Amino acid sequence: MLPSSPPRDPWTAILFHNVVPATEEARRGRAFLLLEQETGFLAERIAGVGDVKMRAICGTTASSDVQIDALRVCAACFSEVGDPRDLVRLPFNEAMASLQRFPGIHPAMAAHLLLLAGHHSRLAFDFFALRTIVRIGYGLDENAGNYGQHLDPFVQHESAVEAAELELDEGDDLRIDATLRLRQLGIDLCTKRPQCARCPIRNQCDLPRLIGKNR
Ligand code: SF4
Repeated sequence: MLPSSPPRDPWTAILFHNVVPATEEARRGRAFLLLEQETGFLAERIAGVGDVKMRAICGTTASSDVQIDALRVCAACFSEVGDPRDLVRLPFNEAMASLQRFPGIHPAMAAHLLLLAGHHSRLAFDFFALRTIVRIGYGLDENAGNYGQHLDPFVQHESAVEAAELELDEGDDLRIDATLRLRQLGIDLCTKRPQCARCPIRNQCDLPRLIGKNR
């Protein structure tokens, strides 16, 4: 079966997030499986995969070339920065800084990797989960910045985490489950054009109420 959720192992999770761009989410599971078959997720083997095989894994669009470069940089970072499975065990700030040396790992994603690996006890959302929870009504929306500028994504992330944490009991597993469920909802229904009429939580969500209809 194709994987649809990011692995809890931080190294393979980094590869999972880099194998295709976020705009091609439907291909992620298949591409990830092909990467595993070709390389066993070993950094030295990823570094040695040629362009033809890389395109068979990542795709042939212009954005696929970006992901191919990103996978190669991931392999280089593994040698230069360290194995992410070791990095997550560092003190929190050091772990956050080290993980952000890998492509595509911005502060929220670094916290998300630490949560999945069991080394962080706060909610932490990837792009899909964050978009969903903000629409539901937690945290600041992207237009809350000053002078008409869009809000910094990490400020938005932290505002959503703060608001949602107020309603959660203790427990890392609960946070991991909540984060992954929100992510899946963001992929299946709460997409760029959200399908609110089909959404199981539409009665608890701010967005349909704000726009005054169920799309
Ligand atoms: S009701 Fe609509 S906006 Fe709210 S979570 Fe569901 S799909 Fe997203």
